[in-house]
Amino acid sequence: MTLLSIYKTERGNLTISLILLIIKHSPALLLPVIIGNVINAIIAGGPETLHKITWNSVFIGILIFQNILTHTLFIKYLSKANRSIEKKLRFSLVKRMQELSISFHDNFESGRLQTKVLRDVESIEILTRQLANIVFTGLLNIVFVIVATLLHNVYVALFYFVIIPLSVFLVLTFRRKMVKSNEEYRLTLEVMSARVSEMVQMIPITRAHGAEKTEIDQVSSHLENVQKKGFRLDVLNALFGSSAWVTFQIFQFICLLVTGFMAYYKMITVGDVVMYQGFFGLIINAINMIINVYPEINRGFDSLHSLGEILECPDLEQNEGKKRIQSVKGEVEFRDVVFGYTSDVLAVNNISFKAEPGQTIAFIGESGAGKSTLMNLLIGYRRPASGQILLDGTSMNEIDLRTYRRHIAVVPQNIILFSGSVRENILYGIDSENVNEAIYSEVLEMSRVNEFLGKLPDGENTRIGEHGSKLSGGQRQRIAIARALIRDPKIIILDEATSALDVQSEVYIREAIGNMIKNRTTFIIAHRLTTVRHADLIIVLKKGRIIESGGHDSLMAKKGEYFKMNEVVQ
Ligand code: ADP
Repeated sequence: MTLLSIYKTERGNLTISLILLIIKHSPALLLPVIIGNVINAIIAGGPETLHKITWNSVFIGILIFQNILTHTLFIKYLSKANRSIEKKLRFSLVKRMQELSISFHDNFESGRLQTKVLRDVESIEILTRQLANIVFTGLLNIVFVIVATLLHNVYVALFYFVIIPLSVFLVLTFRRKMVKSNEEYRLTLEVMSARVSEMVQMIPITRAHGAEKTEIDQVSSHLENVQKKGFRLDVLNALFGSSAWVTFQIFQFICLLVTGFMAYYKMITVGDVVMYQGFFGLIINAINMIINVYPEINRGFDSLHSLGEILECPDLEQNEGKKRIQSVKGEVEFRDVVFGYTSDVLAVNNISFKAEPGQTIAFIGESGAGKSTLMNLLIGYRRPASGQILLDGTSMNEIDLRTYRRHIAVVPQNIILFSGSVRENILYGIDSENVNEAIYSEVLEMSRVNEFLGKLPDGENTRIGEHGSKLSGGQRQRIAIARALIRDPKIIILDEATSALDVQSEVYIREAIGNMIKNRTTFIIAHRLTTVRHADLIIVLKKGRIIESGGHDSLMAKKGEYFKMNEVVQ
C-alpha cells in the first residue's frame, strides 16, 4: 500500500521520536511511585529516612529537568518525520494526478482533488501527531500503570481491570449522546446558513417583488431553530459533561476507599495508597485524552481512505514497457473504430479513414456528432472499444503515448493560458535552456503574435491575467498557435474557435493557421465551411458515423449533406 510505504520511509525518525517520548514522559509516570516511596520512608522512620527522601527527590528532579531537552528533541524528530510524510503524500498525489487517465479526470471534479491535496493531507498530518502525542502517551500511561500495579499488588491490579472498562463504557455512553446532539445542532446551523446565502442571492428579486417581509420571516424561523437547538445542546452538554466527570471521580473515590481499607488491614502501605491514587489519575487522564481526540483521529483515518481513492486508483494510462517512438512521419489511420462513453450509446461508430503525412482532414457535423471524441481517441485520451488507430502503421495500443504526444500539438477551442508572461505561455512545457531564440522569433512571426506583441506594455514579458483575461480572443488563439508551432509537431489537432472575430483578426488567424499546418498532418474540427474548402479530406459526421467523405469538389458534385450545408450558408 502506497500510504504505508510512505510511513515506512520515515520509520527511523518515528522510532527515535517514540523512544524520546517515553523518556520525556517518564517523570509523569514515576512521580506517584516516588511520592509513595517518600511517604513510606517517613512513616517507617529510622536513620535512613532523610537519605531516602533526598535521593528520591533528586532523582525525580533530574527526571523532570531532562524533559526540556527530550521534549524538544521528540517534537523535532516527530515533526521531521511528519512534515516529510506530508510532503511525500502531496508529491505522490500530484504525480498520480498526472498519470491518471483523462477519463478519470473527466469524472472527478477538480475541487475534490484540491481538497485531497490540501485538507486530507493536513488531517493525516494531524492524525500522525495525535497518534504519537496523545494515543501513544495514553497507552504508555495505561500499560505502565497496569504493569507496575501487577508487580506491586495483584488485587489492586484486578480492581483496575474491572473498574477501567466500566468507566470507559459509561463515559462513552455519555459522549455518544453529546455527539448526537452536537450533530443535530450542526445540521440546523448548516440549513440556516444555506438559507441565508440563498436569501442574499435573491435580494434583487426579493426587492423587485416587494417580498422582503416574507424573506425575513422565513430566515427568522431558521434563526429561532438554531437558538432552540443551541440552548438544548448547551444544557445537554453540561449534563453529560458533568456526568462523565462525576463517573471518573466516583471511580477514583472508590479506588481511594478500596486502597484505604487495604492499607488499614496492612495489605498495602500508606505510601501505596497515595501511589495508587496517582496511578488512577494517570489512567483517567489517558482515557480522557484518547476519547477527546477520537473525532480528529477518525477524520484522519477517513482522509487516509480518501487519499487511497487516488493513490490506489488503477485507472492509469498504461505506458510502461510500450514502444517509445523517436520520430513520427504523420500517417494516421482509423480502422473500424468504435467507442462509447456509456455502454448503451456509441459516440463514435465504425469510423475508418486514412490521413497521409502532411494532409489536412476536416471534420464537420452538428454538435454531438462525435468530432471531439474522435480527437480524444487520436490523442489517446480514450481507447477504442474495438477497431484500431494506426500511427505510421503501428497500432496506438503498442506505443508509449507520452513519446507520441511530443510530436502532436493541440490547439483547443477554449485556449488555456496560465497567469505567466506571453513568452512563458508560448514556451509552455519546454525547458528554458532548450529554447532556440532564432526559431522562437520565427514562430512569433509565423503565428502573427508579433503583430500585437509591440502593443503590449512589456512586449513578450507582459504578464497575462489569470486565464489570459487581458487578451482578446484572436490574440489568445495566436498564442495557442505559437505554442503549437514552437514544438514543431508532425500532427496538429485544431478545434476551430466558434467565436466571431473582427475582419483583421480573422485574416491574421487564417495566415497563422496556414503557416502552422503546412507540411503537417492536420485534423481540424471545423465550424466554418471556408476552413474546410482546402482540406484534402472532408469527413461529415452524424451521430458518430461518417455519412460523407471526400474533397470539396467531389462532395459538392454529390449534392448530399455537405452540399446542403453550403447551400444554407450562401
Ligand atoms: P462533438 O464534438 O461533435 O460536438 P462529442 O464528441 O463531444 O461531439 O460528443 C459525441 C457524443 O458523446 C455526444 O452524444 C455526447 O453527449 C457524448 N459525450 C461526449 N463527451 C462525453 C463524456 N465525457 N461522457 C459521456 N458522454 C459524452
